[in-house]
Amino acid sequence: MEKNNICEKCGAELRVDRCGCAVTYTCPNCGWSVATTEWEPIDLDETKYEIRLAEGTPVNKETLSLVSRMTGKNFIDSKKAIEACGVIYVGKARVILEQKDFLAKQGVAFVIEPNFPY
Ligand SMILES: [Zn+2]
Repeated sequence: MEKNNICEKCGAELRVDRCGCAVTYTCPNCGWSVATTEWEPIDLDETKYEIRLAEGTPVNKETLSLVSRMTGKNFIDSKKAIEACGVIYVGKARVILEQKDFLAKQGVAFVIEPNFPY
């Protein structure tokens, strides 16, 4: 679906707006737009994925506040979750993808189960 992200008229990168099951691609340059109700595989995926921090993740201020933020737990429970490599997030593919990007930016090692293909 890569080609859908480039404007057919001028070649500029399209802006993607999601609204329910519809996806609208709009060109910020020339105004060309196309709407589609096609779901991407990631949106059809009903699997509940679990994110855990990788084994050996250090317990420090950064990881504690990260886990606390993702789980809503206090620092004591977050510490336990890190030490036990506990599940810190459960969700469907689309939100897991967001969390995955977020964690990757934090430079934290983590594991997604079952195998996350996106
Ligand atoms: Zn355009």
